[in-house]
Amino acid sequence: MNPTATESREQTIGALSAGERFLLVTHEHPDGDALGSLLSMAMILRGLGKDVVAFIAADDLPLSYEYDWLDVSEVVTQVPDDADERVVVFLDCGNTERSPLVDEAATPEQVLNIDHHHDNTRFGSIDYVVEDASSTAEIVWDLARGLGAPLTPAIAEALYLGLITDTGRFMYPNATARSHEMATELLAAGIDGNLIFRRVYENLPEAKLHLFARALTATERYLDGRLTLSVLSNDDFEQCEAPASYTEGIVDFLRAVDGTRVAALIRETTDEHGESYRISMRSSDGEIDVSKIARAGGGGGHPAAAGFKSELSRGDLIELLCTQISEQS
Ligand code: 5GP
Ligand code: MN
Repeated sequence: MNPTATESREQTIGALSAGERFLLVTHEHPDGDALGSLLSMAMILRGLGKDVVAFIAADDLPLSYEYDWLDVSEVVTQVPDDADERVVVFLDCGNTERSPLVDEAATPEQVLNIDHHHDNTRFGSIDYVVEDASSTAEIVWDLARGLGAPLTPAIAEALYLGLITDTGRFMYPNATARSHEMATELLAAGIDGNLIFRRVYENLPEAKLHLFARALTATERYLDGRLTLSVLSNDDFEQCEAPASYTEGIVDFLRAVDGTRVAALIRETTDEHGESYRISMRSSDGEIDVSKIARAGGGGGHPAAAGFKSELSRGDLIELLCTQISEQS
């Protein structure tokens, strides 16, 4: 029988208290919640006297400008040789395919899987998946309480980052009374909330504005406007001199367009397998579960925010989105 959430919480706190050496990891191309939960957990455990290694793949560093104020000086980009002897803690990582550790030989004895994705594949020896938590940061905040760990300003800043990014600055339905209670506690710990908002959402490089302009100008509507999407090509990125990470936020504009039920940003990407597309989706009112659509395309995510990668042609991809949306509405 699956343990209850309370049992999983107690088991997780027990394992974090008992462990001495840890390896912390998160998903590839880490977003605010991935970074916030990873770095806060590292600081919390170090504060309890543990030996902690936090890993981010070399490809994902340096961090994009929104996150470049975070202290990653102690983060490692190589899986340590003694990984097998460490308790591995996955944070905000719905499945092991999204983890850079999957390519490594490490077969740790104990894996703690701490996450809030409902489609988490429950790959850990302890799975603590809190589906109604706004963010993994919210789960880490609660675990810190359970561990009796003090909230230093640096821990509170990292947690606040995870909270504000995964709740869309407290706008999405996942921002509950508990999320606001967490915000109250973090602000009371002495952080400058406004400064964090400005670091993350302002200081825009001008190239990002140009990329937004292209994406918004190229907006297309399907299904009588229920699907609003935009496509960015490799050429768009080149001409704007913008990296892929500058797309962050575009899909939120598309979602806000009147009549939209699903918004999608489709961007071309080139890797060792050639050209493909990355699709980022948002549901406007929560009625259409975009994680179902993402799973149909081989990806995953949350009901209101999900994504996948596809080798379909642009036309076939849009047809897939239309078919999937029609099936749900
Ligand atoms: P974003 O659109 O911001 O890249 O991602 C939104 C949500 O979808 C995030 O919670 C992210 O974890 C999830 N997601 C995006 N792409 C993938 C994917 O390829 N596979 C899985 N499993 N989840 C994804
Ligand atoms: Mn998250």
